[in-house]
Amino acid sequence: MDFSSKLLEQAVDEMSQLPGIGKRTALRLVLHLLKQPASQTQDLSNALLDLRNNIKLCRNCFNISDTEICEICANPSRNAEIVCVVEDIRDVMAIENTGQYRGHYHVLGGKISPMDGVGPSQLTIKPLIEKVQAGKVEEIIFALSSTLEGDTTNFYIFKQLENTPVKTSTIARGISVGDELEYADEVTLGRSITNRVPFENSMKDQ
Ligand SMILES: [Zn+2]
Repeated sequence: MDFSSKLLEQAVDEMSQLPGIGKRTALRLVLHLLKQPASQTQDLSNALLDLRNNIKLCRNCFNISDTEICEICANPSRNAEIVCVVEDIRDVMAIENTGQYRGHYHVLGGKISPMDGVGPSQLTIKPLIEKVQAGKVEEIIFALSSTLEGDTTNFYIFKQLENTPVKTSTIARGISVGDELEYADEVTLGRSITNRVPFENSMKDQ
């Protein structure tokens, strides 16, 4: 792409670093911003910088949060003894949208994926195990997407918890293999949490 302006080229280059944004889309977005009042670009930049500089991970569940302890963990009406294990905040949002779940979460920050160089130590598995070993958890619900990586991660955690009295279950698979949680509709997802099955049973199915 040949630019007549270095400033334009620089903005397009930065924008096209984002996933799913090619150079053409980046150019369209940048030109759109140029047509809008300067305050819009300023507000966008401020929001992104503010997010980047001030966002925290909840010390308890590792969900993205504005505060040291997120709103879900800080809510006394939620049951801290049930912990739903998810990949990231999008899964938390999807499950919260169902209105069917009143427990806590544990956000892993990804899934075990040797192909992508992601091992257990890069995820928040250790704090989860420690939470269970401290006797604070009665039930763990695995709610990772049913991909190879999701299953590998579930099984790894399950093995780590084998010598603890914690109950392990997995969300019922109304969700077909490979579906990501965030795309599951609320009714199906809500039902799959309510109708969760013991984790051992889910392994026998495979
Ligand atoms: Zn939290």
